[in-house]
Amino acid sequence: MESIVIHGGCEGKEVSPAEQLERTQGVEQAGIIGWEHLAAGAAAEDAVQAALEYLEDHPAFDAGLGSYPNLVGDYEMDALMMNSRGEAGGVACIQDVQHPIAVARKVKEHTPHHLLVGLGAQWFARLHGLPPFRVGPKTQRQPTDQEAAELLDRYLEIIENQTRYSTVGAIARDTTGHICAGTSTGGIPGKLPGRMGDSAIIGAGTYASQAGAACATGVGEGIMRLAVTRQVVQALAQGLILDDAIQNILAQCSHEGIPCGIIAMTAQGHTLAAHNGTFMPVWQAAQRR
Ligand code: ASP
Repeated sequence: MESIVIHGGCEGKEVSPAEQLERTQGVEQAGIIGWEHLAAGAAAEDAVQAALEYLEDHPAFDAGLGSYPNLVGDYEMDALMMNSRGEAGGVACIQDVQHPIAVARKVKEHTPHHLLVGLGAQWFARLHGLPPFRVGPKTQRQPTDQEAAELLDRYLEIIENQTRYSTVGAIARDTTGHICAGTSTGGIPGKLPGRMGDSAIIGAGTYASQAGAACATGVGEGIMRLAVTRQVVQALAQGLILDDAIQNILAQCSHEGIPCGIIAMTAQGHTLAAHNGTFMPVWQAAQRR
């Protein structure tokens, strides 16, 4: 059974109807793009990459072009791709690339490593022919040293008041039954330079195994601490049904006050999404042939 599920971030506070519509439509379009790849017989990796690249180019999402700036106005992005064979590749705190998910896939397919960060990740992207790309319609001017020092003073307040989570994630199962999951993000707005979130961490924001796959969105520090996606897939491996596998870990997130959204897929291609926030656009499709 080919199958796909896509999300466009789980918000912690109310989102305007206009923004809800824009993000719902964006996720739907990404889903259709991914689905077309699967229907044409492409690998799950191709479907995930195509869907996420569309969202990385969409300014309404916190990934690629639409990434939020960090505390000093730079755009540092994280992405990971992992498949049901356990093959994984990710990038973190990467700047000046159009599609972090494409670089993540190249790490997965062309290196023995799982995660490249910062300048090393950028160098690797160039080495593989991915040209420099200026990220950021949400552009802000770089602060002066004095402004940066003041921002640092107000840093905790800035982080506590931020409520935006529009990271993107996708899971696809192709005609061969192979599953791939991917996540891409600009991280949380106003983060400290060098802060890596959950998205590029295996088992936190993204995880896949022969038992299934999951992607998460929300407060990265909490998602990392609870190893959210690893827990979901582990529960599937232990025989829990998808709903229980997701709800058990969501209950833990809620108990700890962690806004979190999850999409997941079983080895057979059944999909489900759930969240404890206010809004999470999701698109899913499946077809038995
Ligand atoms: N989980 C992401 C992070 O903490 C944010 C998000 O889901 O939007 O970097």
